[in-house]
Amino acid sequence: MYEIFADLHVHIGRTKNNKPIKITAARSLNFENIAKECVERKGINVVGIIDCASPYVIEDIEEFLKQGDAYEIEDGGIIYKNKVCIILGSEIETSEINEEGKTGSAHNLCYFPKLKDIKAFSNEMRNHIKNITLSSQRADISAYELIDIVEKYNGVLIPAHAFTPHKSFYGNCTSRLERIFKEKYKKIPAIELGLSSDTFLADKISELETKAFLTNSDAHSLPKIAREYNKMLVEDISYKELFKAIKNEDGRKIICNYGLDPKLGKYHRTYCEVCGKNIEGEAPVTKCNDCDSRNITMGVFDRIEIIKDKKETKSPKNRPPYIYQIPLTFIPGLGGKTIEKLIDNFETEMNILHKLSQDDIEGVVGEKIAKNIVMAREGKLNIQAGGGGVYGKVCGN
Ligand SMILES: [Zn+2]
Ligand SMILES: [Zn+2]
Repeated sequence: MYEIFADLHVHIGRTKNNKPIKITAARSLNFENIAKECVERKGINVVGIIDCASPYVIEDIEEFLKQGDAYEIEDGGIIYKNKVCIILGSEIETSEINEEGKTGSAHNLCYFPKLKDIKAFSNEMRNHIKNITLSSQRADISAYELIDIVEKYNGVLIPAHAFTPHKSFYGNCTSRLERIFKEKYKKIPAIELGLSSDTFLADKISELETKAFLTNSDAHSLPKIAREYNKMLVEDISYKELFKAIKNEDGRKIICNYGLDPKLGKYHRTYCEVCGKNIEGEAPVTKCNDCDSRNITMGVFDRIEIIKDKKETKSPKNRPPYIYQIPLTFIPGLGGKTIEKLIDNFETEMNILHKLSQDDIEGVVGEKIAKNIVMAREGKLNIQAGGGGVYGKVCGN
């Protein structure tokens, strides 16, 4: 067995011939470029591409397989250059009735072993989605119904960014996943934590003790791939091995989660839409202290304070550690060119963030930046929390 890195939530901006898939994502973010970025720069071994149910993307995948550098394997997934395994996925927004009887919406990550499976899934989802060619579209069914369709085509469903305010189960629909999935709850092997939460926060909810936690980038551009990722122990890179690791079977496992300090996420604290800023104060904050408005965007940190059922964090025994990482783009003084230079010298961002000594880094970018990178690694930089859709900020020391 050996260690691999997996990032299971990467979007597609456009197809190779420029058809829009996720309009807010970068144009260069297409199937082939993602595969190359994982191999050449990020050192990611398993990547989940989450817009593969779009018929336009399916055309790209078929073309990609014809080029000869990539092939499908029996255990599921597409191997490219013998270095990365691409997992075909689809992010679907389901329609839920929340606990106040209003409509809520939640994002679901659906993964499939083979191209033929996701093709069949796509075909069936046409009946539930208006525009199947676009990313993360809303379906007219609930997750309770969706999970049956996913399983019919050999897939697995995982709740996406489970706590974010607008499009997630805990953020928008429920305080307990079990109320949504009922007797099917046991079919869900994991949840995705999302950028604004971490293991420490999520383990305040007891129904999550039996679920694995995933840390994925939700990348909308190539550089953002692997800003969060999972380190896993597997026998090989494939769909089958990936899910064995997620389910902790036969010695496969998630070794640790690498993720942003949740304060850096876009929805960490509650934000007043009237004042246009985060609301200070002890969580849970549910109205503005300055203007008294309840026109707020709930923070993930505040939301978890409201719905938690444990007094303090108590993780189950097999819970892997969560390691904070501050991506290079967040580090003060680091622009695009300098990042380029670092990656030219040290191959991957992971090397720079976790492995190299200050001396090594200093040789390339000077003392001040090297010091900031090492202090970020050690959690010694101050962070101003994000909220209302605005990322948190590293403010130096
Ligand atoms: Zn989403
Ligand atoms: Zn206010």
